[in-house]
Amino acid sequence: MTTWVDGAAGSLFDIDNLPYGVFSRPGEEPRVGVRIGDLVLDLSPVAAAEMLDVHHVFQERSLNALMAEGRLVRESVRRWVTGLLSDGTERDLVEPHLVPLADVTLHLPVEVGDYVDFYASLDHATNVGRIFRPDGEPLLPNWRHLPVGYHGRSGTVVGSGTPVTRPQGQRKSPTDDTPTFGPSTRLDIEAELGFVVGTPSSIGEPVSYDDFADHVFGVVGLNDWSARDIQAWEYVPLGPFLGKSFATSVSRWVTPLEALDAAWVDVPGQDPTPLPYLRPGTGAGPARGLDIGVEVVLNGAVVSRPPYRTMYWSPAQLLAHLTVNGASVRTGDLYASGTISGPEAGQRGSFLELSWGGTEPFADGRTFLEDGDEVVLRYTAPGTAGGRIALGEVTGRVEPARE
Ligand code: MN
Repeated sequence: MTTWVDGAAGSLFDIDNLPYGVFSRPGEEPRVGVRIGDLVLDLSPVAAAEMLDVHHVFQERSLNALMAEGRLVRESVRRWVTGLLSDGTERDLVEPHLVPLADVTLHLPVEVGDYVDFYASLDHATNVGRIFRPDGEPLLPNWRHLPVGYHGRSGTVVGSGTPVTRPQGQRKSPTDDTPTFGPSTRLDIEAELGFVVGTPSSIGEPVSYDDFADHVFGVVGLNDWSARDIQAWEYVPLGPFLGKSFATSVSRWVTPLEALDAAWVDVPGQDPTPLPYLRPGTGAGPARGLDIGVEVVLNGAVVSRPPYRTMYWSPAQLLAHLTVNGASVRTGDLYASGTISGPEAGQRGSFLELSWGGTEPFADGRTFLEDGDEVVLRYTAPGTAGGRIALGEVTGRVEPARE
C-alpha cells in the first residue's frame, strides 16, 4: 500500500498510521481530520461527497461521535481513508481537502469522560517504593495481584502544548514539624500512555480481557504532571489528590488500535499468575503488551527512553480490572498506564526516579522542573508495513505559580 500524498511515504505518518484529530482553520468550526504526512485530511466534505452513512460524525468538535460508532465502523472508516489516500483515482476528489498542518489549530481531540490513572510498571512502582518508603518492602502486598489505580480529574485533561502553571499547595518535609504552603518545589512529569474508550459498556457488566478491542478506540501520549512534595504529604491513606489534579496533558492525535496491530508483544512475565478475570481467554497464552518506545525530551535534549513493552500489566488487564466490579465505561473515558519506566537508569519515566528523589541531579544539574522548562514526550511503534509510526507527541512548558 503506497500513498500518493507528497512527502508522506516513508515518514512516521505514512499510510499505515493515520491518527485522528480535531482541527480548525481561522474562522472555522473545529472538525475531525486524519493526519497523513504533514497534512490533515478534512474528512467531513469528502465523506459527504461520497455519501458515507456516518459522514455527520466528522463535523463534530470531538472524536466522541466517531468513537461511539463502535469497532466495525472504526475499522471500515480506516479502510475507506486508506483507500482514499492510496488509490490514485480518488486524488482529484481528495487533494483539495488536504490542509497543511502549519495552517491549522489542533484541539483537544476527545471530550474526556472519566479519567483513571494506573501504576502498571514494575520498575516504576519498585523505584517509587524505594524512594518514598526506604525502610520497607518497595512493593505493597497487593501490587502483583491487581493493577493499582485511582480516579483522576478529567476536567483538567488538556491538549499537548497547553502551558502548565506550577501548582501551589501544602507540603511538609519529614524534618519539619508543621506543613508550609507555597509553589511546589518538586514539580515532575510522568511519561505514560493513555487509552481512549469508544464503545461504552453497561453498568453491572464487566469488560473481559478479550473484549478490549471492542471497547477501546485508540491510544494517546500522556503526561501526568505531578507535584511530588504535595503528593508525599497528602497521599496517605486515600491516594493522589491535588498533587496530580492540576493538569494532565494528552497528545492531539489519537492513534486507532489498528495502526498498532504490529506492536503487540507478550508482557515480560507475571508472577503469580493473575486471577482468571485478568487473563486472556483459554489457550490464548500470556497477556499482551505494546512495543512502544518513548523519549522524554527536556529543553531539547533526550533525558530518558522508557520502553512501554516492559510494563507489567497489559492494557486489556487494566480495562478488565477497571470494570470488574460492574463499573461501566462511557465513550470518551480515558485510562492511563501509569509512569513508564524500564529496568535501566536511562529508561525512567519521571524526574523523581531520574534524580532518585532529588538526591542525584541529572541533565545539567536538574532534579525537578524549573519555571520555563519544556518537556516533550515522543512515542514510536512498529507499523504494519514494516517501518515505524509515531504517536502524537505531548508537549508542555512550565509557567510560574500564580501567587
Ligand atoms: Mn501517573
